[in-house]
Amino acid sequence: MTALFDHHIHTDRSDGRVSLEDRARSVAIRPHGVSDHYPWRDKMRGEDDVLRYIDDAARLGLRVGLEFDLGVMPPLRAATRASLHYLIGAVHQLTIDGKRVAFDEAGRYLKGDRAAPFAQRDLYASPDLRRKILESMLEAVRHGIDEVGMDIVGHPTFLPLVALGDPEEMLPAEWQERFIEMCVRSRVAIELNESYRVPHREFLVRARERGALFSVGSDTHGKIGPLDRTEAMIREAALDRGAFLSGARVRRESSRI
Ligand SMILES: [Zn+2]
Ligand SMILES: [Zn+2]
Repeated sequence: MTALFDHHIHTDRSDGRVSLEDRARSVAIRPHGVSDHYPWRDKMRGEDDVLRYIDDAARLGLRVGLEFDLGVMPPLRAATRASLHYLIGAVHQLTIDGKRVAFDEAGRYLKGDRAAPFAQRDLYASPDLRRKILESMLEAVRHGIDEVGMDIVGHPTFLPLVALGDPEEMLPAEWQERFIEMCVRSRVAIELNESYRVPHREFLVRARERGALFSVGSDTHGKIGPLDRTEAMIREAALDRGAFLSGARVRRESSRI
């Protein structure tokens, strides 16, 4: 069985703990690229930092991506985007009615053992707020596809709502179908994220039935670990390994801008 390409890996160029040089060595463990956060505080501030990152990583023989922070990302020139091997677009916060809804706490919960209940449950009690979060998420994904030209949607169903209970209950089927349809239409790959354990099985089955493309993302910030959860997700949703990206973009159109 050929190893799947891991697109989503961080280095010390953003919040990872491993250098580009060490990442270049670990491709011997399994094929992977690097995809640091953009923007990232004092490290990935703008075009110049991104271009230096692409040069340094490519010189080491790495496939280079970026994890675009949808909604807060400063624009990059088309030429810079084109010189990346792939773009991952991901949502880490949303603004609802002028207020920032941060995903950090939900992220810690989903990455952990999930034994205790999610501490921020009460924050998301309002059905109106939940509906707005879902709509705002779809709009962020649409923006990533149509205007940023992303190739992969990173941790697609990672939302605070998913920390509240069964994702199949928290995410209406109709919302899942709209999400998947946007990706399928532009051949944007749906990431299976090892760290957050998303998307859930029913979402992946729906995506497979619509003919979606997929992508592996361990989202590691440290050492390269096994892809046990990803392999289980693939098995349980009966995904075809031939539908996974292998470190290169396959989109129908790279971007509208
Ligand atoms: Zn992320
Ligand atoms: Zn990441």
